[in-house]
Amino acid sequence: MNEPASETIGIDLGGTKLLIGVLDGTDVAWENREASTGQNEEELVELIVREVNAAREARPGAAAVGLGIPATIDYARGVAVSAVNLPLAELPIRDRVEAEVGLPVFVDNDANLAALAEYTYGAARGMPEVVMLTVGTGIGGGLILGGEVYRGATGAGAELGHVVIQADGPPCQGNCPNHGCVESLASGTALGREGRAAAESAPDSALGKLLAAGQEIDGTAVTDAALAGDATSIAVFELIGSRLGVACASFANIFQPNAIVVGGGVIRAGDLLLEPARREVRERALRPMNETPVLAATLGNTAGMIGAAALARLELGRLARREG
Ligand SMILES: [Zn+2]
Repeated sequence: MNEPASETIGIDLGGTKLLIGVLDGTDVAWENREASTGQNEEELVELIVREVNAAREARPGAAAVGLGIPATIDYARGVAVSAVNLPLAELPIRDRVEAEVGLPVFVDNDANLAALAEYTYGAARGMPEVVMLTVGTGIGGGLILGGEVYRGATGAGAELGHVVIQADGPPCQGNCPNHGCVESLASGTALGREGRAAAESAPDSALGKLLAAGQEIDGTAVTDAALAGDATSIAVFELIGSRLGVACASFANIFQPNAIVVGGGVIRAGDLLLEPARREVRERALRPMNETPVLAATLGNTAGMIGAAALARLELGRLARREG
């Protein structure tokens, strides 16, 4: 169980921070986090190399590196094609890091890795067909189909957050040219926006009083107020959760998954978010897909790191079988 060869390095590179760990399954032998904000491509590569070297110094037996990035990925070439929240474009990040650290490196989309983590160790353990949504600043998507991460033709697929739930809806976020994507209507960003609107129209609510006191009404504030029982904030979650559920009903119809797993920062609201989503799935999806469970992710904000380490282990095993 504790053989050094069973440990791999997992990196979750986010828009604001990098989380790195040396893991055996979900057991974290070493862990670190560093700010990633405001760095250019070269600085990001240097940051990753520096952190991998620190991880190897602490745990010399670590055998491979998995790297999760919130970007569209060319999986076979290990290239980060484009990202909304990081200054990356056509960056051959796998080869760049591999050349510096001398370990096999595998690169994937961060939500794909969250799906792999929840499938391997979390809420969807043992379920071969899984739809994963990570609801944070945006909405990331990941698919496990037939027990494998589904990546599309080149690795950029499963962008489930960009399914349209309102054809003439608001413009989507970042570099998405579409309108009315579920990401634009049910992300943490949308939660904050709807929360501000609700606070303005209900000045006597807890949320309205926060606004009057000059506090910023963002997704965190709405979640805190809802969990404390503020009816106005709970109604905002009803709206956001039901929008999410409209998308989930389509995913249930398309994939007939064993479960839809919802993670990301907004899942802190738990059933306040998920109950309205479950209701939409029950009412909108075809039978028997209307019985698809909508589950809360269980691995929290380390899911990306755990999934990255799991990817490294998985791909290392494949390489060994191919060579053996
Ligand atoms: Zn979009």
